[in-house]
Amino acid sequence: KLVCVTGAAGYIASWIVKFLLERGYTVRATVRNPNDHTKVEHLLKLEGAKERLHLFKADLLGENSFDSIVEGCDGVFHTASPFIINVKDPQADLLDPAVKGTLNVLKSCVKSPSVKRVILTSSVAAVAYNKRPKSPEVVVDETWWSDPDYCRELKLWYLLSKTLAEDAAWKFAKENDLDLVVVNPAMVVGPLLQAELNTSAAIILNLINGSETFSNDTYGWINVKDVANAHIQAYEIASASGRYCLVERVAHYSELARILRDQYPTYQIPEKSADDKPYVPTFQVSKEKAKTLGIEFIPLEVSLRETVETLKEKNFAN
Ligand code: NDP
Repeated sequence: KLVCVTGAAGYIASWIVKFLLERGYTVRATVRNPNDHTKVEHLLKLEGAKERLHLFKADLLGENSFDSIVEGCDGVFHTASPFIINVKDPQADLLDPAVKGTLNVLKSCVKSPSVKRVILTSSVAAVAYNKRPKSPEVVVDETWWSDPDYCRELKLWYLLSKTLAEDAAWKFAKENDLDLVVVNPAMVVGPLLQAELNTSAAIILNLINGSETFSNDTYGWINVKDVANAHIQAYEIASASGRYCLVERVAHYSELARILRDQYPTYQIPEKSADDKPYVPTFQVSKEKAKTLGIEFIPLEVSLRETVETLKEKNFAN
């Protein structure tokens, strides 16, 4: 079967492409610059790539730029969206590519009768950030939505971009009778296939690179292989529908530091928080829906070790 993956050279998408090729699919992979060798080399080296991987140039904001690429595809995995934290212009750098880009891709999908289902990579960023109090007993699930006003007040632009993009995608899918399934991973860790450092792996690098403190923050964590597998399962399982939160464990940075210290006793891992405030509380994220996709939930300890090992292999860390 023929499928399309947008933003295919990214951290998560590269694993989706790898698993799709392993499962025998023919993959149309969109990238912004197919001629940038460092960006696409790892994709071209994947098993099956020679025969069944085809690169296409497409920008999220290029009108109709996905029309001919999705035409003929049975499934479309829309992963492309900027995951950057420090931005100068939130509208241009994050919100437009996320929201307008998603609608642009979805519009191309409804134009092509071959497209049976679209899988959108959203995030826990679109689920868990609102004024509802959190504590270790609170269980966040797929019925939760992040609150755009809360994100705007706190200038959480990336979270806002994911929330608005997913919301727009659902509205568009309902109006246009499009079969949309959404995957909402937490912070993604695990081995890197691509050459460039992505934002979530950079967080782990920061913890092992001699920082004096860790941030006083709590996030959910999930392995990139579970995330990629969930995308493909959400596409292949006919009864899959709605959103799927993907979180192996919610953990404060102090807990990550503790795990890393146990595994890498020779590294200098920070022992204190960057502020004197009480630790941001943990919470739970329901695994019930994700389990119906057959997700393994690789333990955080393993995911962190895998992350550090690839950071070393790729010479980001010593
Ligand atoms: P990467 O930074 O590795 O990948 C981001 C991808 O988006 C790249 O392929 C990039 O393309 C593409 N992209 C960004 N802006 C544009 C644009 N204007 N036009 C076309 N393509 C664009 O990040 P991740 O793999 O981590 O992120 C992939 C998806 O997963 C995103 O939707 C992100 O929000 C989501 N996500 C990530 C999490 C994480 O912790 N990593 C957690 C939850 C969700 P190019 O290669 O051309 O630069």
